[in-house]
Amino acid sequence: MKEINSSEFEKEVLQSGRVILDFYSTECPPCEALATKFEDLSHLYGNDMKFMKIYRQGNRELAEKLGVKSSPTLLFYNDGQEVAPRLTGGIKRSEIIRNLDSMLTAGRVEEIRSQIKTSVSEFDVIILGAGPGGLTAGLYLCQSKINTVLIDIALPGGHVSTTHEVSNYPGFIEPQAGYMLSHNMSEQTKLCGTIYKVAVDVTSVDLEKKEVVIDEYETVRAKRIIIATGTTPNLTGAPGEKEFKGRGISYCATCDAKYYNDKDVIVIGGGNSAVEESEYITRFVRKLTMVHQFDKLTANKQAQDKVLSNPKINIVFDTEPRTFIKEGDRIITEVENVKTGQRQKLSADGVFIFIGMKPNISLFRDKLELDQWGYIKTNEDMLTSVPGVYAVGDVISKKYRQITTAVADGTIAAMAIAKEMD
Ligand SMILES: Cc1cc2nc3c(=O)[nH]c(=O)nc-3n(C[C@H](O)[C@H](O)[C@H](O)COP(=O)(O)OP(=O)(O)OC[C@H]3O[C@@H](n4cnc5c(N)ncnc54)[C@H](O)[C@@H]3O)c2cc1C
Repeated sequence: MKEINSSEFEKEVLQSGRVILDFYSTECPPCEALATKFEDLSHLYGNDMKFMKIYRQGNRELAEKLGVKSSPTLLFYNDGQEVAPRLTGGIKRSEIIRNLDSMLTAGRVEEIRSQIKTSVSEFDVIILGAGPGGLTAGLYLCQSKINTVLIDIALPGGHVSTTHEVSNYPGFIEPQAGYMLSHNMSEQTKLCGTIYKVAVDVTSVDLEKKEVVIDEYETVRAKRIIIATGTTPNLTGAPGEKEFKGRGISYCATCDAKYYNDKDVIVIGGGNSAVEESEYITRFVRKLTMVHQFDKLTANKQAQDKVLSNPKINIVFDTEPRTFIKEGDRIITEVENVKTGQRQKLSADGVFIFIGMKPNISLFRDKLELDQWGYIKTNEDMLTSVPGVYAVGDVISKKYRQITTAVADGTIAAMAIAKEMD
């Protein structure tokens, strides 16, 4: 692996056959998460292509010329041409491998695959999921000198990292940007010494053996497991939803509301998330129409009052979406009144869907006792039905799902484990 600067770009990258170039920055958690994967793959694929790094802040002009707008960004060259999609953000090992393999013959890919060595590492505790619940458990375990690894399929932070503003997390007088709150939580846990394996593929989880395989080849074993995998947004299931996801249909206001300046949007839902996110979206949009299946909002009273008095918001009650179609740049949501059966078409520039969540348990669903909605049952120590396996945060069966409650669960599980292992 070689570090280059912009004056060497022409010779080392454009005139050098197959080259992978990593634009990295300092103080960049996703860059840190990528570094070991990049190093590891440079040993595996190093005979077939060159692995180069370039410091983005120090080579700003080149980065701008190449259209590199975030760190890290991986670029894949062959004879001076980009030959595979750029990768950026929380880059997974499997995504890099897919691009690298596309630059080689099938036979060579086979040979390289046969050289991949499996590895096994041992810890006291594995935490699956680095949202507020997992991060807090990691912090408490680390401070109890318990050797802990945090594994996440994405970057640390969970839902908080994509929440625009958090105004109800104690200790802060002003509302906090969600990404900053989650960044601080993550840094606090990392600084303590907890090991992070993030932006990985979780291949399998064996709760009985306390064994997790990541990225197909790396086995991680422990004496205890904490499941902190949170939830994923529900889909409406209406035709067109999957097709237009990311192309007019969004599940994240923080990520996408800013693209609807002075435009019209529809929000599907009427619970806490829908109401709070709608209030935020009106900072940008001209008009917002909420489509809610019941005859009144189900969010808390304070949040309801805000949207009901917001002149930009109009609410269509007793109504569900039936189809989403595109007409030019507009998205047409056909909705049906669930009481009268009457249908109408609502036209908007974008649609946001906030209709609840489902627990992320697909890798271990069969092994655990669940409630009727599929959330994991725990006792007051956060212990599940499988000995040595704990669960915390939004993924467990409980009434209220908030950052504070996830953090509390993480604290309890960690303290219970620390006591047991004492
Ligand atoms: C739009 C929105 C706004 C919100 N606003 C607020 C607010 O203002 N205040 C508040 O208190 N709460 C708010 N919440 C709720 C709050 O975000 C959650 O209660 C909290 O994040 C739950 O934390 P968690 O650690 O249980 O799960 P999450 O935050 O969901 O984190 C779970 C983590 O597990 C990872 N994961 C998933 N599957 C796997 C797997 N198989 N293996 C490994 N890792 C996995 C995910 O990538 C994720 O990082 C909001 C939620 C949403 C969706």
